[in-house]
Amino acid sequence: MDSCDVLIVGGGPAGSSCAWGLRQAGLSVVILDRQNFPRDKVCGGWITPRVPAALELDLADYARTRVLQALTGFRVGGIGGGAVETSYGASVSFGIRRREFDDYLLRRSGARLQLGEALARLERNSDGWIANGRLHARLVVGAGGHFCPLAKLTGAKADGESAVVAQEIEFAMDSRQLAQCRVRGEVPELYFCRDMKGYGWCLRKAGYLNIGLGRADPHRLSTHVAEFLRFLKTEGRISFEVPPLHGHAYLLHGTSTRPPVNDAVLLIGDSAGLACPQSGEGIWPAVESGLLAAQSIAAANGDYRRQQLQSYASRLAAAQGSSARNLGTYLPSWLAGLLGRNLLRTHWFVRGVVLDKWFLSGDAQTGVSVA
Ligand SMILES: Cc1cc2nc3c(=O)[nH]c(=O)nc-3n(C[C@H](O)[C@H](O)[C@H](O)COP(=O)(O)OP(=O)(O)OC[C@H]3O[C@@H](n4cnc5c(N)ncnc54)[C@H](O)[C@@H]3O)c2cc1C
Repeated sequence: MDSCDVLIVGGGPAGSSCAWGLRQAGLSVVILDRQNFPRDKVCGGWITPRVPAALELDLADYARTRVLQALTGFRVGGIGGGAVETSYGASVSFGIRRREFDDYLLRRSGARLQLGEALARLERNSDGWIANGRLHARLVVGAGGHFCPLAKLTGAKADGESAVVAQEIEFAMDSRQLAQCRVRGEVPELYFCRDMKGYGWCLRKAGYLNIGLGRADPHRLSTHVAEFLRFLKTEGRISFEVPPLHGHAYLLHGTSTRPPVNDAVLLIGDSAGLACPQSGEGIWPAVESGLLAAQSIAAANGDYRRQQLQSYASRLAAAQGSSARNLGTYLPSWLAGLLGRNLLRTHWFVRGVVLDKWFLSGDAQTGVSVA
């Protein structure tokens, strides 16, 4: 039978970051993913500078053959209202294509890759787990995203979970679309829903355009998406039909009740429900939790009982801090809408609260350059 120290189920940013950390600690790691890579992932593809910093990415090398769009400002407004543009004068974030980014992280992780194979069976034995009847691992890490099959092993219950629901599309623009797109690469656009329970975005990366909308309220998502697309056309931001959007869901930190640890099993990234409550940023929490899990696994020194792995849960809680939510989840929707529409017209609120606090979480001060 094939064997390894740690089996990671899922090769997204959580799984590949964890594998990278574990390989540096000298453990043998297999990543199992049901898809072949490169693969598409429903996502905006916006990352904050702490992602490449924590993973020690050589951004110049990355950008040689892949899309890396430096973002130096944001245009922010309300759907149906005006917009305010903020410029930072330096890169405060990046736009990547998940198809390229996830594949790059996976290949550099140093793990043994078993791609195109879903986890179909997992059995416990006296010394760990047997996956798909042929691979023995002392410990398993659930990195399979929102619907990760390992989530139930830590006692997670899907009932009563309140997920963010979102739709997105990324496509290469043809020459006509390029001419009819007023969204600039370095200035992505964010437009909040009238009730402040979600927002739509336009992120242009080289010749690609990524458009989507996510909401903390699952009702009438398609209606909100249609309204957003109409608004972009009315405002002249894009003057062409976009291809159909694809949907997905994920949990925000503070709404997730999924325990991250059990005997010989840890959950990381979306499988643990860790995305940032105000912005929906999930790539950074996926990377951070993957690295923290790797540290705790290495420190457990082969003893993978729950109490030995509990340091992961404590490190995660300390790293994630409080779970402050956005305006729309605290206030009645008429009041959130009224306040939101007015506040989104002011430069101080857009820069000081929406961008610096909700979206950049202090990263604006750490502008990064691609050498
Ligand atoms: C529309 C939308 C837009 C978003 N935009 C952004 C954004 O711009 N920036 C940001 O930071 N976050 C964004 N997010 C959130 C972000 O996409 C996720 O938080 C992030 O992908 C989580 O990474 P992960 O590695 O935990 O899971 P994933 O990236 O979902 O990876 C999970 C992997 O597990 C594999 N898998 C699943 N089940 C199995 C199985 N049974 N067996 C084997 N493999 C399996 C899948 O094939 C997949 O490759 C967005 C989310 C959505 C829905």
